[in-house]
Amino acid sequence: GPAGFGLGSWPARRARISPGRTALVQPGRTRTYAGLAERVERLAGAFTRLGVRPGDRVAYLGVNDVTVFETLFATARLGALFVPLNYRLSPTEIRYMLEDSGASVLVHSPDTDELVAGPLPETLRHVVATDPASCPAGGLDYEAELAAAGDPPVTGVRLDDPCLLLYTSGTTGRPKAAVLTHGNLTWNTVNQLAHLDVLGTDRALCIAPLFHCVGLGQITLPTLFKGGSVEPVAKFDPGTILGRIGEAGITSFSAVPTMLELLCRHEDWDRTDLSSLTCVLYGGSPVAERVARAWLDRGVKLLQGYGMTEASPGVSMATHEGTLDHPVAAGVPHFFTDVAALGPGLTPEPVSGTPAELLVRGPHVFGGYWNRPEESKASFVDGDWFRTGDVVKVDDDGWAHVVDRVKDLIISGGENVYPAEIEAVAVRLDAVGDCAVVGVADERWGEVGAAFVVRRAGAELDEATFRAHLELHLARYKVPKYIRFTDALPRNATGKIRRVELRARAAEALPNGPA
Ligand code: ATP
Ligand code: MG
Repeated sequence: GPAGFGLGSWPARRARISPGRTALVQPGRTRTYAGLAERVERLAGAFTRLGVRPGDRVAYLGVNDVTVFETLFATARLGALFVPLNYRLSPTEIRYMLEDSGASVLVHSPDTDELVAGPLPETLRHVVATDPASCPAGGLDYEAELAAAGDPPVTGVRLDDPCLLLYTSGTTGRPKAAVLTHGNLTWNTVNQLAHLDVLGTDRALCIAPLFHCVGLGQITLPTLFKGGSVEPVAKFDPGTILGRIGEAGITSFSAVPTMLELLCRHEDWDRTDLSSLTCVLYGGSPVAERVARAWLDRGVKLLQGYGMTEASPGVSMATHEGTLDHPVAAGVPHFFTDVAALGPGLTPEPVSGTPAELLVRGPHVFGGYWNRPEESKASFVDGDWFRTGDVVKVDDDGWAHVVDRVKDLIISGGENVYPAEIEAVAVRLDAVGDCAVVGVADERWGEVGAAFVVRRAGAELDEATFRAHLELHLARYKVPKYIRFTDALPRNATGKIRRVELRARAAEALPNGPA
């Protein structure tokens, strides 16, 4: 029977209830729950042969694929920690994460050959390639290892054992690995299922990358828990995805806002049948109102989720009933989630309409970062309240609105200016494709805004018109002093604006340097 109550036991437990149902869909690699459970047992046996023991780390580097799930469950089955890595990073950054996590085994897919070609840390004992054709010298072949494996040991995995080392996006600094336990991930799953109308007959597309909390935790794990099927998508191509939604009767998917925009701007958008979709979830960064409206106007229940790696990740989510009335709000807290506002003296206070840093606690909130005792300690107040670092306000209906990150706040002449508010106004102008505002030092005001603006393809827009638009909708002190037109904004793999880079760019281009 299943060993312990951890994530690694999920395939075997699902296989008792719905062995013949399809768990994972991928050409040539489709798995029923029984099939998945069997392969997870064998892969756990293979990892055991490679020396993996409880508490060890197994890293995965590659695009969304059935093998990500097999590796996750097999690692969890052994009481070892799964470490999914972002294949969009540089070899240096990958090496840092391999070193930082101390992974002893790395599983990787063919498209990441170059990333693992350089020198690797000594702690890494085995490299396993999911495609035999790309097996590097001294590397092992995934299928051959599976075939040669014996039975894995019985391990009594407990819910408070660590399961996942999940790196944050590194938006505000170097990525930190959050240690998420089996319990954290289970409670997040329960929270998502309490909030959403997910069914065992659902078919979820897995578009958001699986190395990030939105891809893994928002709909994917909950759908597998429920016995639905998940179809990993390796490459985000809007046309292909729209086609797949129409032809495969896709019921749900999680995305990041940039993906939602690319989908609704695609030439096939109007002729795609979206009627099978019961919910589309997104989170990670703000969405432009016109993008949210495009989906809602097509009758799709588009639900904004708010959360972070440290919360496994869900904190709050829009509801099926309320999303039309609150198209760009982050909804209400999850079932087993408490939220509070950080008050003076670092104490929790009731949330309100006044923007304040949000605190969160619940059984899905992590206990700390990997090997970072100082930062772990500093991220909690009053016991177990996690400091999100996000400014949030709550409206009269109890719906959360993510205002901005505390770290991105610009203080200009003593007034608080939130870049996200300016950006939301900026993209209401049709000619604006994208916009980001950062703070720069200013002799008179202390700090002022610098806006980077991307014109929509073929659109004309000059500084005066843009400035006039902002002045029409924003208080004078909020209008950025500097406006620069640029070809594209630097964004990371999950569509977040890389403000660190923009601040550096502003420092080069502007007279007074960054704030
Ligand atoms: P790092 O912690 O390394 O600086 P990060 O915070 O971007 O990076 P993630 O855990 O991927 O890493 O992202 C969580 C953050 O994303 C939240 O703290 C919040 O700032 C932002 N975010 C999440 N959901 C939303 C949302 N619905 N609207 C606006 N911002 C969001
Ligand atoms: Mg963060």
